Amino acid sequence: MAKSRVVLVVVASICAITAACATPPPRPRAIAGRGMPNVHVVEPHVAPIRPKDAAECRVYDPTGRTPRYTRIPDVPSFPPPPRPDVQEVHGTTSWLGLGRPPRRPGSAIVVDRIPTRQKVVFLTIDDGSDRDPRTDALLRKAKVPVTVFLVGTVQRCETPYFRGMQRLGARMENHTEFHPLMPRRGLTGQRREICGPQPRFQKAFGHRPQLFRPPYGMFNADTLTAMSDCKVHYLVLWTVSVHDRRTIGYPHRRSHTLEPGDIILMHFQNDFVESYATVLKLVKEAGLTPALLEDYLQ
Ligand SMILES: [Zn+2]
Repeated sequence: MAKSRVVLVVVASICAITAACATPPPRPRAIAGRGMPNVHVVEPHVAPIRPKDAAECRVYDPTGRTPRYTRIPDVPSFPPPPRPDVQEVHGTTSWLGLGRPPRRPGSAIVVDRIPTRQKVVFLTIDDGSDRDPRTDALLRKAKVPVTVFLVGTVQRCETPYFRGMQRLGARMENHTEFHPLMPRRGLTGQRREICGPQPRFQKAFGHRPQLFRPPYGMFNADTLTAMSDCKVHYLVLWTVSVHDRRTIGYPHRRSHTLEPGDIILMHFQNDFVESYATVLKLVKEAGLTPALLEDYLQ
């Protein structure tokens, strides 16, 4: 009970700071940052549509869209990432500066960055719906590994599309079935959200997700228990978020440059292409190279 109360306090504190517990999707709180116009402390995006049956999958059909853009931005080239120097990951202790996140013995580990001295960062892209039609061409041009936290309902409708992305170096991981605010669900509901997509991902992509990202970055101790029940080992948050081409957030960090081990959050949305190109330039300027997150979380 004591732990539950602590978790509630943490979640309530996060809500107080970010207003993230209002009716989703939450509006990110903007904080002035030196050299950066805004800092977003919650996942800033619109929740995906929930198809109830196959007929509704048509809303995701990218071939039915008229491209609004034609130009693929220039992106820097990178050397191959180094051979991973895997270190033991103990998990974050100060997510959002609010103290240690919930932890239960033997349950999943919460990470927001990777402990490494190697000059690598990790690119992650969330959700999967509402994609820019240039996304494929850009990923093909960039040739760097990314981790996609894919919503289950989107996967169900668009497995061929994401298999194509997998061939470009992307790894698909778990982002719930329906994209809810997890602390609003009980243990059974959270278990359903996490366990539900697992066998389908195995069948679609040839591996069972080992990583999970909670929608809006919100979770509680039940989330970690549900993850353990579903055999998902790491809850992945982020240190840097990119909302659009001009806005990059570094929550609770004094410096405003990328650092080795950073996990960078992006979304498939209308400004993804510009955001992705901007991030790659910043990674290059920092003397870093993108590496695959799964190689460092084993
Ligand atoms: Zn999301």
